[in-house]
Amino acid sequence: MSKFIFITGGVVSSLGKGIAAASIGKLLEARGLATTLIKCDPYLNVDPGTMNPYQHGEVYVTDDGAETDLDLGHYERFTNARVSHDNNITTGKIYYSVIMKERRGDYLGKTVQIIPHITDEIKRSIRKVAKDRDVDITIVEIGGTVGDIESLPFLEAIRQMRWELGVGYALNIHVTLLPYIKSAGEQKTKPTQHSVGRLREIGIIPDILLCRTEKHISKEEREKIALFCNVDKEAVIEASDVKHIYEVPLALKKESLDDLILKRLNIKSEEKDLKEWEDVVVKRLRNPQKEVNIAVVGKYITLPDAYKSIYEALVHGGIANNARVNILKIDSEDLEGKNLDKQLKGIDGMLIPGGFGARGIMGKVNAVKYAREKKIPFLGICLGMQIATIEFAKNVCGLKDANSTEFDKETKDPVISLLEEQKHVKDMGATMRLGAFSCQLQKDSHSFQAYKKENISERHRHRYEFNNVYREMFEKAGLIFSGINTQKDLVEIVELKSHPWFVACQFHPEFQSKPERAHPLFRHFIKAALANQGK
Ligand code: GLN
Repeated sequence: MSKFIFITGGVVSSLGKGIAAASIGKLLEARGLATTLIKCDPYLNVDPGTMNPYQHGEVYVTDDGAETDLDLGHYERFTNARVSHDNNITTGKIYYSVIMKERRGDYLGKTVQIIPHITDEIKRSIRKVAKDRDVDITIVEIGGTVGDIESLPFLEAIRQMRWELGVGYALNIHVTLLPYIKSAGEQKTKPTQHSVGRLREIGIIPDILLCRTEKHISKEEREKIALFCNVDKEAVIEASDVKHIYEVPLALKKESLDDLILKRLNIKSEEKDLKEWEDVVVKRLRNPQKEVNIAVVGKYITLPDAYKSIYEALVHGGIANNARVNILKIDSEDLEGKNLDKQLKGIDGMLIPGGFGARGIMGKVNAVKYAREKKIPFLGICLGMQIATIEFAKNVCGLKDANSTEFDKETKDPVISLLEEQKHVKDMGATMRLGAFSCQLQKDSHSFQAYKKENISERHRHRYEFNNVYREMFEKAGLIFSGINTQKDLVEIVELKSHPWFVACQFHPEFQSKPERAHPLFRHFIKAALANQGK
């Protein structure tokens, strides 16, 4: 039977609870324990699939086609856990399920209420994941900050679970902030005391405090926090800022967090080392031998979370090549003029990520033209691949009006058009072509060189697709269709014949990249960018 770790957050949002949860997963795996991680999101959307990236950040896609919170990306990058649809529990999903049951008559005769019906549904959903995955430890991260009205049913559910499970089967970790007030030269513990007090009011007593801080916590401060927050001194864990997120597991290990968790959960487990993580990931991040400049041309570049997995996958590609990747975030709307040298001169590689809607499209077309003509290594992802084919159509094949029907329904040359299966879709939520699909690679291609196998499986999230009517014409003009989904005859990857490295894919390789195992396309893209330096 799985044991449970419940993670809550206090004082402010953006404390890195997701990274803390993922790092704990990593530490426990390094002790030989199988883990899975669940994110509970208190919003009413059923999933984040319909939310604007500025509202929510990236939508992370799982193999089984769930559109989920970006913390699930951290879980998969840090641990061996494979997450799916049910690893992300939202208030929307819980209410949806309870209301369906009520309509079916499952609660016949009863008044349906938040307690017990909503809380029971939350508990059932959490337990189901633990049971299905058959793991030693299930880590449950509760989104939001303690004190929010929205997260109350989740907190009540984990309070009940803790009581039902009994001593030694569950523990609560509270991630909190110790702000440093510069003018007073002091680290403040009061917000943490208040936040823990808030938790106690609803019956949750944290076992461990993970204190986010810029400064070291002194012995006296530790004792004070322990006394006022009702935790042991050894359970006040310092989580100070580190340079790279992948250093967090090592920093927490230094604080003996894994020993403490195992002790509290009565688990005896052998020490295994984190050597690969330390040597391959952290050492190379700290002391890269080379540097490379990659332009990411997108429209949500002011928000770091909007392209989270892309940025991480670039870092992984850097680790694999022993290089620091400097990411130049370029707003595609700034590339609508004629001369792009001002923004793009000196870049070693260019990446265009996924996206929706017409804003900034022309700038992206110009960016592709720049990379194609100047022979700059190029990786296009989803919308980036669609733009690459639109650019090819316009500037190589002479189809001046070529476009995607997403941006111009009446275009004379719809080189990108709605997938057949999408034509009758009316609802927006969870209706795209989602999740993992297979793709057959052409042997003589950059893609095959990267993957070193003919059959691959990659995750998707799109409604539009390359229009096969144009395939022959484009092939003659020098575009290679190097990846095809053979079941539906869909174009998955295109490459340019006369270019050192120009690969654009309809799927999202970034979702399967890991720090110690960079995704093949990112590894080879960075390699090509390094080879392009000085040319
Ligand atoms: N908007 C495009 C489509 O729906 C691309 C989607 C994406 O980049 N994720 O097909």
